[in-house]
Amino acid sequence: MIEKVVKTNEEWRKQLTPQQYHVTREKGTERAFTGEYWNNHEPGIYRCVCCGNPLFSSDTKFESGTGWPSFWQPIADDNVEEKEDRSLWMRRIEVECSQCGAHLGHVFDDGPAPTGLRYCMNSASLKFEKKS
Ligand code: FE
Repeated sequence: MIEKVVKTNEEWRKQLTPQQYHVTREKGTERAFTGEYWNNHEPGIYRCVCCGNPLFSSDTKFESGTGWPSFWQPIADDNVEEKEDRSLWMRRIEVECSQCGAHLGHVFDDGPAPTGLRYCMNSASLKFEKKS
């Protein structure tokens, strides 16, 4: 079982930048091509900006052309939670951090092999850790 990280909005606000807070705690979306990681090609892992949960590896990052960091697979299925999202008159699958509930982005089924999935993430929800 993963130990959940539970904090009040006030605590998250203190810990995060306004944009990180908006994306992760209010299900916001950063503007395409503006985030820190869409064009990052360094080897390493991407952790949840809120709780440090390891979410994605550079090994599964690919060029989606969308302007958001995109991956074809999470580090472990248990590290993310996928939920149906019917906002904005669309049916999408929202992706959250399974440890703290941070909103990360959405997953679509138009990704590359081997999974065919495209985890379309917000840079503002991630913290990159360069492989040493
Ligand atoms: Fe988290």
